[in-house]
Amino acid sequence: MLFKHEGEESAFLLKCPECDGEIEIPDDVISGEIVSCPDCGMDYEVEVTQEGEIRLKPAEIEGEDWGE
Ligand SMILES: [Zn+2]
Repeated sequence: MLFKHEGEESAFLLKCPECDGEIEIPDDVISGEIVSCPDCGMDYEVEVTQEGEIRLKPAEIEGEDWGE
C-alpha cells in the first residue's frame, strides 16, 4: 500500500472516486485532512479508520464554487 521512494517524501496514491485520477496522500496523513484531486480538482476529507485504512469522503466546503 505504501510507495516509498528513497530521499523523497513518503506518500501513497489513492484513486479519486470522481474521476479515477490518482491522489497523493502523505503517509502521515491524519483524519480530517483535506486533499484535492489534481485531475478534477475535487476536495476530499481523509478519514483514517481504526483498522488504519484510509478513506476519502467528499469535503463539504461552504461557499466554494463547484463550477456548475
Ligand atoms: Zn478526480
